[in-house]
Amino acid sequence: MLEWTGPLILQAAKTTSMKILYCLCLFFLSYSATAQQTFIHCGRLIDGHSDNILQQQTIIVEENRIVEVRKGFQQPGQNDQLIDLSQQTVMPGLMDMHVHIQSQSSKDSYSERFRLNDADIALEAVQYAKNTLMAGFTTVRDLGGNGVNIALRNAINRGFVEGPRIYTAGKSIATTGGHADPTNGVRKDLMGDPGPAEGVINSPEEARQAVRQRYKDGSDVIKITATGGVLSYAKDGSGPQFTEEEIRAIVETARDYGMTIAAHAHGPEGMKRAILAGITSIEHGTLMTEEIMELMKEKGTYFVPTITAGKSVADSAQIAGYYPAIIVPKALAIGPKIQDTFAKAYQKGVKIAFGTDAGVFTHGKNAKEFGYMVEAGMTPMEAIQTATIHAATLLGVR
Ligand SMILES: [Zn+2]
Repeated sequence: MLEWTGPLILQAAKTTSMKILYCLCLFFLSYSATAQQTFIHCGRLIDGHSDNILQQQTIIVEENRIVEVRKGFQQPGQNDQLIDLSQQTVMPGLMDMHVHIQSQSSKDSYSERFRLNDADIALEAVQYAKNTLMAGFTTVRDLGGNGVNIALRNAINRGFVEGPRIYTAGKSIATTGGHADPTNGVRKDLMGDPGPAEGVINSPEEARQAVRQRYKDGSDVIKITATGGVLSYAKDGSGPQFTEEEIRAIVETARDYGMTIAAHAHGPEGMKRAILAGITSIEHGTLMTEEIMELMKEKGTYFVPTITAGKSVADSAQIAGYYPAIIVPKALAIGPKIQDTFAKAYQKGVKIAFGTDAGVFTHGKNAKEFGYMVEAGMTPMEAIQTATIHAATLLGVR
C-alpha cells in the first residue's frame, strides 16, 4: 500500500512580472512504497527544459522518482494514488546555485562570530533550510560557511531535518586578508594565522592542500573568492586576490576529486584569471567587461548573477549602523550594478544559472531573483530554465 508521509504542494515565486510563476511547485519530501505508483494530473506542466507549457499531462511517480510523463489525464490503477492538479500549473522543484544556508544577514551579523557557538548556528540553519524548501527550492548549492553547512547537508540526507538537497563548499578558500579570510577585522590576539586547514592559502602548494582539506571535510564543491568582496571587513571590494597559478592549482586538484569550482568575483582582472585557470562558474560578476563575457563563452563558464543580493546589500547600506562603516561604500557602489551586468551578459549569450546569495538576505525570498531577471530582459521561461535544467547542468546532476 502506497503511503505518503509528506506530499507538499506549494505556491512558488510570486512576482508581479512573472505571472507564469503563479503555479504550483510540487515535490516529495518522503514516501515509502511497494510497487504502487502515484499519478499526478497536471492542467499545465512546465517541465523545466522545453520552451512551451504543456497542457493536460500526467506525471507518474514510483518510489521517489518520476518514471514517466504521459499526454492526457491517465487513469491510475486500483492501488495507485491520484493527485488531482488538473486546474493547476505544475513545475519542478527549483534550484538555487548560490546560497549561504547556515547564516542570515542582520544588523548583528558582524558580532555573531564572538557570540554564537556552532550549536546556535546549526539550530538556526535548520530553520533557514526549511524556509528555503517551503519557498519551492528543493536543491541549493551552498557556497561557504564554517562546516555547519556540511553537518546540515548530512542531517537532511539522513532524513533528520527537512530541507533542500544541499551541495556544499564547506569553508570557502581565500588568501590572507582576502574575502572569506575568517579573521578579517578581528583584533590581533584573536586573529591568529589561519592557513589551508581554515581555507586561507598563499601559494599553489597551499592551494592544493586547502582543496584536499575540503575534500576530507566532506565538501561537494570548491568555492574561491577570486576578488575582494562587499561584506568582508576590508577596504577593497573588487581587486584580484589570487594569482592565476594559485587558482590553477585549485582547479587541477579539485578535478582530481571530481569537484567543480565556483569563483566569487566582482572585478574583471580576478574574473579573467579564474576563467583562464578553468573554474566552472563566476559568482556575482559585477564589473564584467565584454572581453570577459567573450572569454566565458569561449570557455563555457557559467555566470551566477545574484541580483537579489546586490540590491539587498545596497538597501541595507542605507540603514544607519546596519553594516560596519568600511562595508557601506562598497555595498553602495557594487550592489546596484549586478542587474545591468546580468542584462548585458544575457544579451551576449553567456551561460546563466540561477543563484541569489540567500543568507546575505532572508532565506525563502530566493524567488525574487526571477522577477529581477525578467525585468532585465530574460523571458519567464528562460528564467525558470536557469533554475532547473541549467542549474542541474552546472551541478553535474543532469
Ligand atoms: Zn555568496
